[in-house]
Amino acid sequence: MKYVSTRGAAPVLDFEDTMLTGLARDGGLYVPERVPTLDPTEIAALAGLPYEEVAFRVMRPFIGDSFGEAEFRDIIDRAYASFSHPARAPLTQLGPNLFLLELFHGPTLAFKDFAMQLIGQLFEAALKRRGEHVTIVGATSGDTGSAAIEAFRGLDAVDIFILLPKGRTSEVQRRQMTTPTEANVHALLLDGDFDDCQARVKDMFNDFDFRDRMRLAGVNSINWARVLAQVVYYFTAATALGAPHRKVSFTVPTGNFGDIFAGQVARRMGLPIEKLVIATNQNDILHRTLATGAYTRETVVPSISPSMDIQVSSNFERALFDAYGRDGKAVAEQMERLKETGSFPVSQGAIGRLRETFASGRASETETSETIARVYAATGEVICPHSAVGVKVAEEEADPAVPMIALATAHPAKFPDAVAAATGIRPALPKRLSDLYERPERMTEIANDLRTIERLMEERAST
Ligand SMILES: *Cc1c(COP(=O)(O)O)cnc(C)c1O
Repeated sequence: MKYVSTRGAAPVLDFEDTMLTGLARDGGLYVPERVPTLDPTEIAALAGLPYEEVAFRVMRPFIGDSFGEAEFRDIIDRAYASFSHPARAPLTQLGPNLFLLELFHGPTLAFKDFAMQLIGQLFEAALKRRGEHVTIVGATSGDTGSAAIEAFRGLDAVDIFILLPKGRTSEVQRRQMTTPTEANVHALLLDGDFDDCQARVKDMFNDFDFRDRMRLAGVNSINWARVLAQVVYYFTAATALGAPHRKVSFTVPTGNFGDIFAGQVARRMGLPIEKLVIATNQNDILHRTLATGAYTRETVVPSISPSMDIQVSSNFERALFDAYGRDGKAVAEQMERLKETGSFPVSQGAIGRLRETFASGRASETETSETIARVYAATGEVICPHSAVGVKVAEEEADPAVPMIALATAHPAKFPDAVAAATGIRPALPKRLSDLYERPERMTEIANDLRTIERLMEERAST
């Protein structure tokens, strides 16, 4: 299996190098040269299997020769052993045709654990075999950083640096990043917003001297392995509700477009998905793009669903690449334009294809709170603000003939203030995190300046 860049000018790589590289050297994102498919019989056979077995069957064709079968099975088993629910991604029913896919039973209580726990294991296996050390760097709006630190803390072959926007994550999120005691973990509080953090990480990858000297590796959802891990739960959820014999729809609370793009990969693999719905909060660049045909960056307005407070949505580039008929040069031109002017018009044909592929909706702050309160009153389920954005938009897109699955992306206890304001209930942290507020914090505040950040990383890393 070979991987190509969305900007068409980077080396073609196998799975392992794609994973270890992160961002392509032409600034693009890696995607598989072609998407393997499962036929309806193979999809039907997934129903009722353990999550790990589905994970193996769905991901195996993308891995090529990078990992042996037994080794890959072992990696998957270890990745999901720390999840607190035997189904890993259980479905609950909210209404006659509305389901919630609970993706928050991993160690840091957000769906990011599905991918991060897996790539922690994949990195360790690959680096051990190669005898190499890497410096992992990631930007986070809150959940990616905590999941990444949890997955890589204490591993010999990596240092991990996470850039988080100072004052913009929830306290639980920040503490999950600042309380690990392992020496290879470095939490950097950047004076800026998430887009600044992500931009500095991309700048580092484009500083080839620094990138090569530090052996930089990225674990943001620019990393293909993350997207791949997330394809799996679309299969477990859909087959549980009758796929491939009946279609299902998904609504996905979206920020960086990684999770919903995984849904599109599942569909291209053959999973019969009727609607794939983008749900945004008030930072609604993706919803506006589909509505207006122009991708126009605005400033981020902090919301009660902070993990979606994003204006430059990295993985959207992967969808654009497909919408532009896999023309890397056209994508590179649009991205250049975005960088220079903050906007680009999606061409007629491409916007048409995007609208055929995705529906979209947005939830305001008030609608989000109302949805948390309403779901609690009607069902007794306490949902987090991100999941509430999804449920609100899912209800708008409901179709009595097709089950709708809304992705519940985080545990409500990660966002206790917003949940308490809506319901009067302060959700408790699960037992394994119950002393989080007592643990000492360790972090470094840093200016939004590339050289300053790079210098600090060189001092701290053990390479
Ligand atoms: C990261 C995150 C999202 C957005 O996911 P993307 O893949 O960036 O679109 C939504 N909800 C929660 C809780 C998250 O942590």
